[in-house]
Amino acid sequence: MSIPSEQRLAFDQAHIWHPYTSAINPLPCYEVRRAEGVYLELADGRQLVDGMSSWWAAIHGYNHPRLNKAVSTQLEDMAHVMFGGITHAPAIDLCDQLLNMAPSGLNRVFLADSGSVSVEVAMKMALQYWACQGAPEKHLFVTPRNGYHGDTFAAMSVCDPVNGMHSLFQNALPQQVFAPAPQTRFDQPWNEDDIAPLEELLQAHQHQVAAVILEPIVQGAGGMRIYHPEYLHRARQLCDQYNALLICDEIATGFGRTGKLFACEHANISPDILCVGKALTGGYMTLAATLCSEDVALGVCQGQPGVFMHGPTYMGNPLACAVAGASLSLINQGDWKHQVSAIEAQLQHSLPRCLTLPGVADVRVLGAIGVVETKQAVDVAALQRQFVDAGVWIRPFGKLVYIMPPYIIKPEQLQQLCDTIYTVLSKL
Ligand SMILES: *Cc1c(COP(=O)(O)O)cnc(C)c1O
Repeated sequence: MSIPSEQRLAFDQAHIWHPYTSAINPLPCYEVRRAEGVYLELADGRQLVDGMSSWWAAIHGYNHPRLNKAVSTQLEDMAHVMFGGITHAPAIDLCDQLLNMAPSGLNRVFLADSGSVSVEVAMKMALQYWACQGAPEKHLFVTPRNGYHGDTFAAMSVCDPVNGMHSLFQNALPQQVFAPAPQTRFDQPWNEDDIAPLEELLQAHQHQVAAVILEPIVQGAGGMRIYHPEYLHRARQLCDQYNALLICDEIATGFGRTGKLFACEHANISPDILCVGKALTGGYMTLAATLCSEDVALGVCQGQPGVFMHGPTYMGNPLACAVAGASLSLINQGDWKHQVSAIEAQLQHSLPRCLTLPGVADVRVLGAIGVVETKQAVDVAALQRQFVDAGVWIRPFGKLVYIMPPYIIKPEQLQQLCDTIYTVLSKL
């Protein structure tokens, strides 16, 4: 017996955790019963234009016939089978596509269950790499402030130490080395001072640094900051110079979101280790991957124990791999390029008028990402309700009202998102 519809939200409030919510005073939730294209349909029948792509993931829109087909076809064969000692076509085809798309030099794929786990895997790879090279003292990670890399413990240790979770879990987190966040904006003239602190830190800690970990070009959940490609270019050079690996976390930026297939391409660099997730399955299922160079892969497996020490139970889940493979095939058709640049042009045209509002501090756009930063932190529940009443799904946090819609969004739907942001923020 399922819970009657009028009691569902009460049950949810009383018993179910949501992301970053209070059990004592939870923010309201909206029940969604269907999703199709760019629309989320609420239980009461209202249709909302989705501005979030379910947190960067649903790039092709919901209920996509080709993605549905990939799941249902795979389901007929097998939903899951262990990956230890077994392999299968969905994983092989996915990894083949992934390696063909990825920045050059990446040659091995570790399939992980979620973005955070792929970051754990990346960090573990870097540590095991140096340990197996006879340099176990290289155990620190250098990372710019305002980063976000996930909610598990190693990932938390490299999230922004102020707006992240450091104060709460300080005693349980490894201490890492924080560089100032990049300050030069994407389209500003490059300023050499911006990279100097990273160089100083790498120099000072070079014998202990395992890797630099960063989000290329767009710092997501740690502030939605969009920075200059030269910073990334120089970070790559500094890693080579000071004998540190470079880990690029493209979990949010990967698969076209910033206008390039991978944000690394804005600086023409390749990392030693790359994390992807979120849009990997087109928003259908949880799956992420950690890619690494042949040098890292071989280095990790030198000496004892001779194997890379990680292996999730649901590694390489065939359903997730099948839908990810189908999503990458859609991307490889190439429409994303025109879609994302059209979204970018429209965002650049429509969002800056928010700058005339007294409550707005900044507007930033890159690819299919639009950010409006307010002067004061917003009342999430109140804004959320106004957005829903206006027929759009936008979930602000802190001072950030931002959208990253599905690539298939139409101009009039995107206009509704932009106009609603303006209207709602004009009442701040
Ligand atoms: C979302 C995100 C993660 C964490 O991914 P999960 O799938 O939520 O664990 C890590 N890094 C970045 C840059 C992200 O945007």
